[in-house]
Amino acid sequence: HQFTSDDLEDEGEIGRGAFGAVNKMIFKKLDKVMAVKRIRSTVDEKEQKQLLMDLEVVMKSNECIYIVQFYGALFKEGDCWICMELMDTSLDKFYKYIFEKQHRPLTQSLILRPKITEELKINTSGCKTPANILLHRRGDIKLCDFGFQAKLVDSIAKTKDAGCRPYMAPERIDPERAKGYDVRSDVWSLGITLMEVATGNFPYRKWDSVFEQLCQVVQGEPPRLMTSYNGMEFSKEFVEFVNTCLIKKESDRPKYSRLLEMPFIRRGETSHTDVAVYVADILESMENDGITQFTANQQAES
Ligand code: ADP
Repeated sequence: HQFTSDDLEDEGEIGRGAFGAVNKMIFKKLDKVMAVKRIRSTVDEKEQKQLLMDLEVVMKSNECIYIVQFYGALFKEGDCWICMELMDTSLDKFYKYIFEKQHRPLTQSLILRPKITEELKINTSGCKTPANILLHRRGDIKLCDFGFQAKLVDSIAKTKDAGCRPYMAPERIDPERAKGYDVRSDVWSLGITLMEVATGNFPYRKWDSVFEQLCQVVQGEPPRLMTSYNGMEFSKEFVEFVNTCLIKKESDRPKYSRLLEMPFIRRGETSHTDVAVYVADILESMENDGITQFTANQQAES
């Protein structure tokens, strides 16, 4: 049974990404809260029906505890609304809050937790950025990235990859080298994400144009994490892991199976409870400071 936008009550914007706004909404009949991502589209009614059917199929085959749950989709005035599980915050807001407001790095229990990488390694096509890694006070870390997105966006939005440009691997930016999609490009994005979240800084200078990015990422040296940075210390294993993800030459960069063999991943587990307590604690301070998802208006840097 298809529901419509009349079944939903809008509670306001909670985030913004490359494809548009994400709002908190309530499904009135069941009094259930959800996050609704609205993607601008130009498809006609016939294509909409087909897309909705495709979506259902992809979503069903894509159920995974590391991806936010999908409730359904609808079209409203041409926009595609994607209804999904509401999470508490995104990793980019979370780590920025910790660095900027609390003047401390993300504790190692979260960043060094092998699970985060395990969660990231699941094969969703598309790059992981701190903005589409979502946290819940239960301690869950999930991707807001439904493998279908690339396809959906291709057919709907025509703004492909805009949101993850800065995280894109050299071989994906350089048109000369562009070939088919390879999971190793996602490994690069993971490296950039881990480095940013661990150090509190995006590892490249800000660029003003795609051309400038091309020069830095394609022609420059890849970013390198050091064991100490700005008074913070990182373990040898973590540094080795990040730098391995950031091997510039695609053919030398490992795929997930080899990464999973690395000491950083193989070493010690932090319990789920620790992460839940840590995340809930930071979320509470964020809320006390009035920085909840409902006031957030961060624009994904692109
Ligand atoms: P896009 O794919 O359009 O770039 P994102 O998926 O990155 O958009 O979402 C943009 C922001 O919206 C995220 O950084 C996050 O703050 C918020 N957001 C997205 N999905 C959810 C969700 N399910 N629960 C809570 N917040 C979300």
